[in-house]
Amino acid sequence: MSTIPDGAPHFPVQPNLSPFPAEERRQAVLAPRFGTCFTDHMARAHWSPQTGWTDHRVVPYAPLAMDPAAAVLHYGQEIFEGLKAYRHADGSVWAFRPELNAARFAASARRLALPELPEADFLASLEALVRTDRAWVPAGAGASLYLRPFMFASEAFLGVRPAAGVDYLVIASPAGGYFTAGFAPVSIWVARDQHRAGPGGTGAAKTGGNYAASLLPQQQAREHGCDQVCFLDAATSTALEEIGSMNVLLVMGDGSVHTPALTGTILAGVTRRSVLDLLAQDGREVVERTITLAEVLDGLRRGTVTEVLACGTAAVITPIGRLAGEGFDVTVADGAPGPVTTELHERLTGIQYGRCDDTYRWLHRLA
Ligand SMILES: *Cc1c(COP(=O)(O)O)cnc(C)c1O
Repeated sequence: MSTIPDGAPHFPVQPNLSPFPAEERRQAVLAPRFGTCFTDHMARAHWSPQTGWTDHRVVPYAPLAMDPAAAVLHYGQEIFEGLKAYRHADGSVWAFRPELNAARFAASARRLALPELPEADFLASLEALVRTDRAWVPAGAGASLYLRPFMFASEAFLGVRPAAGVDYLVIASPAGGYFTAGFAPVSIWVARDQHRAGPGGTGAAKTGGNYAASLLPQQQAREHGCDQVCFLDAATSTALEEIGSMNVLLVMGDGSVHTPALTGTILAGVTRRSVLDLLAQDGREVVERTITLAEVLDGLRRGTVTEVLACGTAAVITPIGRLAGEGFDVTVADGAPGPVTTELHERLTGIQYGRCDDTYRWLHRLA
């Protein structure tokens, strides 16, 4: 079965002639060390204004040779994506709504003045890499092969302008559960003085610079005994934006679910979109709006906010048990995962791992 649309580029495979020994690979897949161990191959393509996208291939995973003047090293012209390949009980391997990742990758490219990669190329690169390295896709609860597509300015030129040489790659790393504690509530530190994005900036693009800006606040969250950092809007420092690499949602006492609206400073998560879609199909009221920190703290004290959760590809759904910042430290309800949070986790992972019907046709077969 081929799911590559007609006209999509083929990624010819140049096989790795010294792959990991089978036993080492089995260990890497059974006990994944996410982000440190990568599969035998990577997919890649190159762009220049003269040729457009060319040289699509799957090659052995290896360090990149890069000119010290490569523009990305100086001006950060870079974007990335993150999604997972899930193994089903019958051995087949699937991605979850990868067209949304392709569309977001193109939107990020536009903001960073990088060339857009067509959706067909994006999907074909994932299929080619996962088919080549399908033995690396773990099986079992919470496990997956994490896929990291990325694009960067590789042209050697120190002038400040969009690069005329750009590389696209996909690498893959076997992953177990994201947070070591599994589906356990996390504590959040609300950063008051530092922001990850501002109006008109790059907050809605998945680009490394946003993460660079989040590292110090994340470190400070840890120093305050919290797991993750939550950012407020840069203009007023009053409204909730998002948590590190996850979007945030509130479940209200009346059953409705509220989440910050996408105003250009927040990353439009695929998981966020899917949670809102599921809830709306259930007939639940879903509200995207400005949500102030003051209102959340008040709602938690009065019991009108009953659950707070975060969502993103890495951890899917994460219950938030505690919210702290300068001058406050509150437990969310009784600190344990709430019923809506728990059900959303079950339903999303149920679809992703093929335990539930894919009613909305969100899955895309990779291998
Ligand atoms: C990737 C990301 C998310 C989550 O997006 P998903 O598509 O659900 O994984 C949320 N916030 C930021 C800043 C991100 O980079």
